[in-house]
Amino acid sequence: MRDVVIIGSGCAGLTAAIYAARANLRPLVIDGIEIGGQLSLTTLVENFPGFPEGVQGPELIQRMRDQAARFGAEYQAGNVTAADLSKRPFTLTLDGQTVETRSLIIASGASARWLGLASEKALIGKGVSSCATCDGFFFRGKKVLVVGGGDSAMEEGIFLTRFVSSVEIVHRRDQFRASKIMLDRARHNEKITFTLDTVVDDILDPGRGEVVGAKLRNVKTKAVTERDVSAVFVAIGHIPNAAIFKGQLEMDADGYLKTHQGVRTNVPGVFACGDVQDRVFRQAVTAAGTGCMAAIEAERFLESSDE
Ligand code: NAP
Repeated sequence: MRDVVIIGSGCAGLTAAIYAARANLRPLVIDGIEIGGQLSLTTLVENFPGFPEGVQGPELIQRMRDQAARFGAEYQAGNVTAADLSKRPFTLTLDGQTVETRSLIIASGASARWLGLASEKALIGKGVSSCATCDGFFFRGKKVLVVGGGDSAMEEGIFLTRFVSSVEIVHRRDQFRASKIMLDRARHNEKITFTLDTVVDDILDPGRGEVVGAKLRNVKTKAVTERDVSAVFVAIGHIPNAAIFKGQLEMDADGYLKTHQGVRTNVPGVFACGDVQDRVFRQAVTAAGTGCMAAIEAERFLESSDE
């Protein structure tokens, strides 16, 4: 029986682990599918306070991990596939094994959103990617597309120019969600071009087992054009990893966990922090902040409950 189990090992989960460990709660952190969360997939982080020169995302995560371990946090690889929150202790199913806990912190984050094309699905890992940091290196000297109009699309596009010969950012509208600073950086990069009011209709060629092109459609003129690109990087946002809690925890229409009075869910003793409950800010520092809140709440909950 555990006092605190933390689902997720990104910035939110690890900050919760640091606080819970320092409160002598010996938290168990369940790593999840993407160990280290989104920071582990990024490069230079320039806006995390305390690092005037910036810090590499994976290094920041490793330092948080070490910091929590130093105070007694434990890590377990694997993914939670089911949860029973109807009675305490809560029961989690983890790759066939059962874990019981008096309190639960959900920091499971959000995963990449895909366009939903059959050809996209067939070519994931074969030229279709949601992570420039992971896969950009493979397309040295090639032409690539980036899909999306938010900060992620700008960041992926800018990062890819280190390797590729050209980046075409394809966005479905003519207005951007990206912040002005990121958009300006992309606009000033001579390897980047923009194609607006345009969607990707198809990615070629699943039959050949690699990306050799893409079919684009202008949503205003309906004109269809083709590009001979070697990769398509999809950067169109994320989906919260909370499906296993459906029917037990309150969620919004897009599946983000609803929290009240900070990080409380509708089940006493279950707290949610980071991107799984935040569709507004979604920053490393806000995830860390809510992770801290969740650990303090869990500690208070355990103190006040005599179970
Ligand atoms: P986002 O801001 O939600 O942007 C997603 C983009 O993808 C939007 O432009 C959206 O188009 C487009 N899109 C969504 N579904 C689509 C579909 N099915 N087909 C085509 N296009 C689609 O997501 P994000 O860029 O991942 O950013 C998420 C958060 O992280 C933001 O708060 C952002 O500021 C932050 N972030 C910050 C940095 C940084 O500061 N370095 C880097 C990355 C992310 P519409 O605009 O038409 O909806």
